[in-house]
Amino acid sequence: MSRAALAATVIVIAATAVGALADEPPPPLRCLERYYGVRAEEHDGAWSIALTDGQRIPWDDRRPKSFEEKLAAPDVEDAFSLRYRPGPIRPVATVDEDPGRIRLDALFASTYGASERKVDVVKIKFQDQILRVHRKVAPAFARVDARLTRAALADRSLAPFLQQLGGTFVWRNIAGTDRTSAHSYGVSIDLNVKLSHYWRWQRPAAPLAWQNRVPQAIVDAFEAEGFVWGGRWYHYDTMHFEYRPELLDGRCYP
Ligand SMILES: [Zn+2]
Repeated sequence: MSRAALAATVIVIAATAVGALADEPPPPLRCLERYYGVRAEEHDGAWSIALTDGQRIPWDDRRPKSFEEKLAAPDVEDAFSLRYRPGPIRPVATVDEDPGRIRLDALFASTYGASERKVDVVKIKFQDQILRVHRKVAPAFARVDARLTRAALADRSLAPFLQQLGGTFVWRNIAGTDRTSAHSYGVSIDLNVKLSHYWRWQRPAAPLAWQNRVPQAIVDAFEAEGFVWGGRWYHYDTMHFEYRPELLDGRCYP
């Protein structure tokens, strides 16, 4: 092959590779397709997800944002900008290290129901208590329940955390905000409030100093089934677990 022909071949191969890459959405979008039944779409070179209710959320809205602005109006990239790391419990000392607190509310609303009446809630038995959770997430709660029962048999000190559970489905905003809580969709659970720590209850309120008593075995049981834990957050909420399988799947990060 002549040098010119070789060069031309290399250019064609390179162009094909670039073309293939351009047609492939960023990994988080593929993940949202897998876990939420939405569709990744490309328009004029810009990726977005099309929700089942017809709305679209852009991959990258190209707006520079503070952390508070990401919480208030995230694009998909913002929602995956902090990597959630399961494993040994570690104190969180990095300001705004809150993987999972940035939520795509429109995605939750279209997946689980956009009003209190539309959320399809079922009753389940969980650690011998009757709880109301979303029908779609009930099987995951049941798997966590089985894991917790085994763990509590092996370690009796776990039991108090799993009694007087703080709540699951409640249509409400996050305390101190106008953002819809994950509890509104029936995908979250709070453990025994008395044994928990929440950043908004800290006195003095600043600086935030992470605190936790929730044992590792409980955290492991939830994370193994796709639930993130509020104890992984700088804005700690150690009673709180929330079904977010996309954050526990290593393939989902950019
Ligand atoms: Zn909670």
